[in-house]
Amino acid sequence: MAANGKPIRGRFAPTPSGRLHLGNALTALLAWLHIRSAGGEIVLRLEDLDRQRCKPELAGELPGELKWLGLDWDEGPDVGGPHAPYEQSRRTALYERVLDELQRQGRLYPCYCSRADLQAAASAPHGLDAEGPAYPGTCRRLTAAERTERALRKTPSLRFAMDEQANYRFHDGIAGETVFSGASGGDFVVRRADGIVAYQLAVVADDIEMEITDVLRGWDLLDSTPRQLALYEALGSPPPRFAHSPLLLGADGSRLSKRHGAVSLPELRDRFGVRAERLVGFLAWLAGLCDRVEASRPADWIAAFDLASVRRQAVTLPDNWIDLLTGK
Ligand code: GLU
Repeated sequence: MAANGKPIRGRFAPTPSGRLHLGNALTALLAWLHIRSAGGEIVLRLEDLDRQRCKPELAGELPGELKWLGLDWDEGPDVGGPHAPYEQSRRTALYERVLDELQRQGRLYPCYCSRADLQAAASAPHGLDAEGPAYPGTCRRLTAAERTERALRKTPSLRFAMDEQANYRFHDGIAGETVFSGASGGDFVVRRADGIVAYQLAVVADDIEMEITDVLRGWDLLDSTPRQLALYEALGSPPPRFAHSPLLLGADGSRLSKRHGAVSLPELRDRFGVRAERLVGFLAWLAGLCDRVEASRPADWIAAFDLASVRRQAVTLPDNWIDLLTGK
């Protein structure tokens, strides 16, 4: 039970725009251990809102890949549950309701800026790393007449107006005490001009509706947290606890991404013959849970798991990572 008497609930929220890679697997393992070690429930939610980027075959493959690692969940697209559907592309009615609520509060405004306008703003001195340059607020200051005039030429996106005076302070389970100023990221998009609901809005609407108490996700989303905290505040919902798992860097020091196709899970297994137990042991070692790689199952780590022992700093894959994974 969480302190407020609610059951502990966490989630995996992969975006099926590429195959799972080592970084996703590390985050999923830590999220699973965090919740299972507290006796909580886990939801699998597919974040497939961007139909251009997300492929149904990848969405279909994801649950099997997570299961291969030895992870499980209590609710999800494959098993159903009280918060179904578990694919964001099927939850748009909820997002529209949340957008209406924010609209009623006067927190949203239409933004007519073009890509070129936004690029010009990219030279602005501040911004949030993962979120790009801060939006300078151009369209927030438009008069009603200017809005009417621009609306004739362009379908707007919708932005959430941040409180620039506010500070968003939270205790991150891995990163520790964290504070962002409300001004640091600027106003952010909650619905794109093409009508697609933006990640920030969908993730908060879903985590509230799915009664998520604990979010553990990749370090690249640490910067999104102040925006999400502002949405929780506007919607009158207490935020979950957050923890951001360490970033994995490729041996060349660059950020591991789905571009590094060679490290997708199916490829590790099918091309290099990596076994799931070896991979779990390797991930536990990368996370700082043990001193050497030993084949293990996720369940073997539950009893001793402590978020405080997960390393905070980015982890660079050693040169011999593939040998460590194949056990050579
Ligand atoms: N869908 C996001 C991703 O795949 C994760 C979102 C979240 O955990 O808040 O990176």
